[in-house]
This record gives sequence, C-alpha cells and structure tokens, in this order.
Amino acid sequence: MRAQAILVTGLLALGVSFGLAACDQAGSTGASGGGDASASLEAKSAKLDGAEQEAFYITEITDDIFDRIKGKSFKDDCTLPREDLRYLHVLHTDIDGNVHEGEMIVNKRIAEDVLDILRKLYENDYPIEKIRLVDDYDADDERSMEDNNSSSFNFRFISHTTRISKHGLGLAVDINTLYNPYTKVVDGKRIVEPVTGEPYLDRDASFDYKIEQGDLCSNLFIEHGFEGGGEWTDRKDYQHFEMPDEKIAEWYPDNVE
Ligand SMILES: [Zn+2]
Repeated sequence: MRAQAILVTGLLALGVSFGLAACDQAGSTGASGGGDASASLEAKSAKLDGAEQEAFYITEITDDIFDRIKGKSFKDDCTLPREDLRYLHVLHTDIDGNVHEGEMIVNKRIAEDVLDILRKLYENDYPIEKIRLVDDYDADDERSMEDNNSSSFNFRFISHTTRISKHGLGLAVDINTLYNPYTKVVDGKRIVEPVTGEPYLDRDASFDYKIEQGDLCSNLFIEHGFEGGGEWTDRKDYQHFEMPDEKIAEWYPDNVE
C-alpha cells in the first residue's frame, strides 16, 4: 500500500499538465454541460495516462486500512464482515480544476461499479470536492457532510431494528453532500442534513456541486443499477445513490424485514 501511494503521488506530480488542462472545463457539469458529450468522453478516456489509470484501484481491507476504520465507521457492534468491504483509491477534480486523490470504502459487490463511475466522472472533469473516508471525521456524518465530503460505508442499524442501513452495508454512495442535502418533513417540521445544507434546498437555484437529474453523475449511477434519492417523493436525498431493495434481499437475505 505504501509503495503504491508513493508511486501515485510521484506520478501525479508529473501529471500537472493534465490538471491544468482540466481547468478549462471545470465550470461545466461534465458531459451534460453541452457540446459533443460522447466525443469528449472518448477523447478524455484516451487521454488518461498510465499514472492516472494506476491511481484508480481496489484493494481488500488491509490491516492498515482496518486500523483507520475500526471503532469508527466499522463500529464495535458491526455485523457486516470486513471481507465484504473494499477500499477504493481514485482521483477526482474539484470545481477549480484541481486534481485530488480520493479514498472510499464500499461493499465488494459494487466496488467495480463505483470505481468505474468515479473514473468516468474524473475523465469528464465532473466536479467533486472531497472523497475522504468518513473516519477522517470520526465517522460523524454531519461533520463529513458539512465539509462537502463524498463517501459510502458507515456502519449503522436502521433505527429501532436489527437491520443494517444501506450505508451500513456499503451499498449507498453520497456525493457532494453539503450542496445536495437530505430533507424530510417530520410532524410538520423540516429536517435538513447537514443543517448547513439548507440554502441548497432550492433546486431551481444555480450553484456549484449541484447534482441534477440527468447530469453525468446521476446518469452514471442509474446506468450502474443505483436509485437516486433525489427522485424520492416522501423525502429528498439529493446526494444519495443506493442499490435497490431487491439487491439487498438477494445479497443479504437475513437483512430484510
Ligand atoms: Zn446517503
């Protein structure tokens, strides 16, 4: 792991010209931003150099990684086997066109899909500000979301049940969380998570990092079999993409009602 990380950092330094080139298009929302989307996707795919390709990889949860998550996202009462999780290392581009390394832990059953989605988003300069393990925020979702972090696995049971939530299974992914908050009205009172995401409940407004139905991020998750929380009607979870209930029943039959 350490050797790989050094390799990536070193090669990234050589890839500065790519990062600068990305600035030109960083203001758009990827392929849906206009122009010849399919041509640009192919062109950018071809442009990924060896170092960039190598920066996208999947590993099992090694002891080094486990040390970072145990007692945090991998809670002491975690009933999901460590073997069911995978660590993803990726690159992503922020709104200013700066390239960053990212880390995400997801369920092994969607690891290749999520890696492919994040690679395509990178190839198209789709802006994602941060992709850090929620453990960097002591597994505190609110803190992670207020920092606009994108993440997946964080073990928890669904309230008042012994069933594991989809994030607890690593089968849901949140993207650009501050600008794409969760909201629901409970007993006439509006809940917003993160609380600092309230200004971004106005989905007609224009602002950076907003996920729109039909944009590249949304389309890629849908193409890979996810459902988008922005399409729910009883609540809205604009940041959220999850595997449908049928998949949970297939993969974790003991985890359904
Ligand atoms: Zn979510």
